[in-house]
Amino acid sequence: FNVPTPTNEPVYSYAPGTKERSLLKEAIAAARASEIDIPMYIGGEEVRTNKKVKITPPHDHKHVLGYFNQGTKANVKDAIEAALAAKPDWENLPWEQRAAIFLKAAELISTKYRYKLNAATMLGQSKNPYQAEIDSACEIADFLRFNVKYMSEIYQQQPPISPKNVWNRVEQRPLEGFVFALTPFNFTAIAGNLPTSAAMMGNVVVWKPANTQIYSANVLMEIFREAGVPAGVINLVYVSGPDAGDVIFKHPDFAGIHFTGSTGVFQDIWKTIGENIHLYKTYPRIVGETGGKDFILAHPSADLEVLNTALVRGAFEFQGQKCSAASRAYVPKSLWKDLKKMMERDIKTFKIGGTEDFSNFINAVIDEKAFDKITKYIDRAKNSKDAEVVIGGEYDKSKGYFIHPTVIVAKKADYETMSEELFGPVLTIFVYDDKKWNEILKVVDQTSIYALTGSIISQDRYAINQATQELRNAAGNFYINDKCTGAVVGQQPFGGARGSGTNDKAGSMINLLRWVSPRTIKETF
Ligand code: NAD
Repeated sequence: FNVPTPTNEPVYSYAPGTKERSLLKEAIAAARASEIDIPMYIGGEEVRTNKKVKITPPHDHKHVLGYFNQGTKANVKDAIEAALAAKPDWENLPWEQRAAIFLKAAELISTKYRYKLNAATMLGQSKNPYQAEIDSACEIADFLRFNVKYMSEIYQQQPPISPKNVWNRVEQRPLEGFVFALTPFNFTAIAGNLPTSAAMMGNVVVWKPANTQIYSANVLMEIFREAGVPAGVINLVYVSGPDAGDVIFKHPDFAGIHFTGSTGVFQDIWKTIGENIHLYKTYPRIVGETGGKDFILAHPSADLEVLNTALVRGAFEFQGQKCSAASRAYVPKSLWKDLKKMMERDIKTFKIGGTEDFSNFINAVIDEKAFDKITKYIDRAKNSKDAEVVIGGEYDKSKGYFIHPTVIVAKKADYETMSEELFGPVLTIFVYDDKKWNEILKVVDQTSIYALTGSIISQDRYAINQATQELRNAAGNFYINDKCTGAVVGQQPFGGARGSGTNDKAGSMINLLRWVSPRTIKETF
């Protein structure tokens, strides 16, 4: 079977006066006008509980968008049972039938549900329309279509050679048990990808999103159901992380986790799985994309405009709440004065506010906990002899969790905001002596535990080559003369190593292969 050759979903501009802009505004108004009651989905049933938890937009936290039904460990047990009950039929369905379901989901996202899904991401996770369009509509449709293509290649791989009178073949079985998809708040696309990539390969899934992403997760589930994902194949539960973990990591049929989130949580999960390893029928697959402390390294030959654009876009788009966001930069002294003026010029133009005003570039960070964490770092920098806040530094949580784009200059290359993940609109710059290029490469490589994304900005081919070689383990996605964000499915498979994850490259065949367990069959005639 050939599946359609995918191309990236076109990105709408939402320019003033366009039909798309009006439709998106209508979807936002409709979402704002009603308070919805969001159920869990277990075995195809909507499950409601007595515990209703409020959902509010991060940029307008007094407005109630609705409530989600908080579940318990018993709901997690039910979800596992429903998944295991759905498993035989689902794994016996020919792969091209499963493919059709996910291609239909992509189609629904790019047409009927586009505005509803984008509106949910804008309201629930505080993203501007362009960011929601890239994250929700386009990236999820891309994940689904490209993964279906990779899936078709896995199932139609060349068989091994067979000598005379023998037929050797390899069967791609789904994992024996269920897969746990544990997803973060920051990308609706990631929440959509983690359960579907495992399900596509014939697995059944229990999916637990971050509480702050449930509003858009609910729309995703509506789409998956309408596309024909059968009851029990993907079960969506809203429980605390520890409650989910308590049930799932002690279950004998736990066969794998598809995780995206912070490094600390992933490391704890890995330890728990290790402690319980004797309980499982099979060694679970552990796939995790985790934190980042992504860098932009400028060589003295850097083009200043290219560098400035890479920094301001890389650091502040999406409020810096991107695992790939530029959060530490190394700038030679010879460029710093002019660069600072350019950054001030551009950052001044960024409007801050709610997502419903499409002219706002910076929206709110996700919740009070994130706001408090990020602003504590800013305050410490204001009072530190080792750092100086040179741009921004203001914040206000009275209406929404707004933090102005902030640039800190660190006097020490290992200052805390040069190495720790803040996950907010804060960029720290270390200004280095132009003569110390060789030393700075080592500093970039060794300062943080992470290795997700990084950029070299340079017009000197020798320097580009040297950085590409010496920083080969410092980033799973490396950019030359570009910002370190914006990986596109089908173009730049995404993921990092070291403290940033297992590097199983989301949106690639490598990732899909983690969700099958091959069986080799030799038949002799
Ligand atoms: P998080 O680690 O707080 O949460 C991720 C998920 O784990 C959520 O569903 C959460 O409820 C759950 N969880 C939290 N504690 C748990 C526990 N003790 N047991 C079980 N589950 C638990 O992450 P987040 O704040 O939602 O997302 C931001 C983080 O994700 C950042 O560190 C960011 O770098 C990372 N991220 C990485 C990538 C990547 O591709 N590498 C992409 C996006 C986000």
